[in-house]
Amino acid sequence: MANDQPPLLLRGGAVFDAESRAFRPGVDVLCSGGRIAAVRAGAAAPGGATEWDCTGRWLIPGLIDCHVHITSAGDPNEMTNARGEPLPVRAWKAAEYARRTLQAGITAVRDLGAAEHLNIQLAGAVESGLVEGPRILAAGLGVTMTGGHGHGFIAREADGPDEVRKGVREQLRAGAKAIKLFASGGVMTPGVDPRSPSFTEDEMRAGVEEAHKAFRVVAAHAQATEGIKNAIRAGVDSIEHGVWLDDEAIGLMCERRTYLVPTLTAPHHIYHGGLAAGIPPFMVEKARQVLEDHIASYRAALKAGVRVAMGTDQGTPLNRPGDNAQEIVRMAEHGLSPAAALLAATAWAADLLRLQGECGRIQEGLAADLLVLRADPIEDVASLNRPENIDAVVKAGRIVAGQAAKRRTNEPA
Ligand SMILES: [Zn+2]
Repeated sequence: MANDQPPLLLRGGAVFDAESRAFRPGVDVLCSGGRIAAVRAGAAAPGGATEWDCTGRWLIPGLIDCHVHITSAGDPNEMTNARGEPLPVRAWKAAEYARRTLQAGITAVRDLGAAEHLNIQLAGAVESGLVEGPRILAAGLGVTMTGGHGHGFIAREADGPDEVRKGVREQLRAGAKAIKLFASGGVMTPGVDPRSPSFTEDEMRAGVEEAHKAFRVVAAHAQATEGIKNAIRAGVDSIEHGVWLDDEAIGLMCERRTYLVPTLTAPHHIYHGGLAAGIPPFMVEKARQVLEDHIASYRAALKAGVRVAMGTDQGTPLNRPGDNAQEIVRMAEHGLSPAAALLAATAWAADLLRLQGECGRIQEGLAADLLVLRADPIEDVASLNRPENIDAVVKAGRIVAGQAAKRRTNEPA
């Protein structure tokens, strides 16, 4: 979409700098043609620019969620119910979830699995300007073994390296910009034990090879220890969940520079919402089994220096579109410093998704995706998850949401 936005000059805010992990006060940010044209004090306003006084405000890059299912609401029993719903209805709902996600300050996501390639279609609709939403790197369907986690709703079944290869190629043909492989069982599929590995290392390697040949980043759903190791050895870019990490797995992740996307939010809501919220009993029971070990694994990975990026697994029960920033709060609560948690949801997330040349930092030349905040997120990381603290959500140089946007809409013409 052509960007004919007038330039936007954000004056005098404190701007988050990824390298020093701190805010630099009194900086102007000039957005022009959808990109960041200048980041310095005393930037000159080009003709026709809209100027915005950001004194007393904090500017951070737009947030990036590396693991969502944006076409899902996060209803307790959605997995079963959604299947009966006509596809157009699901598409309209998905458009609304994309809008909510962007309004909450999430300007880019990686979608790791949706039926009917709905995530790929949604990504295209956002890109063409038809639907308002974050930038979406969509995986299409995940690829899983016969009867493996995700089968029948967000994954295509495949057995043996050649079939995995074909499964990945099918997603690429459909327009996938990321690839998802299932290396172990999980919580949300009935009858599948999260402790059981699924694809063999050879199967995983075939999938990774196909994805990397096409310059796509590969995520492995991996909860079981052996599944995690198969995935790392096969060369995936990120381990999603990483529930049962042992020392060897952590050592391999450090060595191979594999990211961990812990998705602490997913089991949290399944367990704490529980049966009372209408979540199926088998899921609640499995969430109970993973909860404590999951947090222990995450802490051990942090201690060893494993690279992390933020992902919510939004779309799992009670894990709603627009509530994504809760994961940043949880990552900080369980051991990451607030500045590092912010990096995990911005610069580091962009690095994992190979978007470092596109977004994730407030830096000249990158897309003008940023948030203007009313509270310092390093002082109060939980403020990121309170919409009233977001003064503006800027995507490609345009204010698309936030309190400031509301004020403007209410102004008399
Ligand atoms: Zn997921």
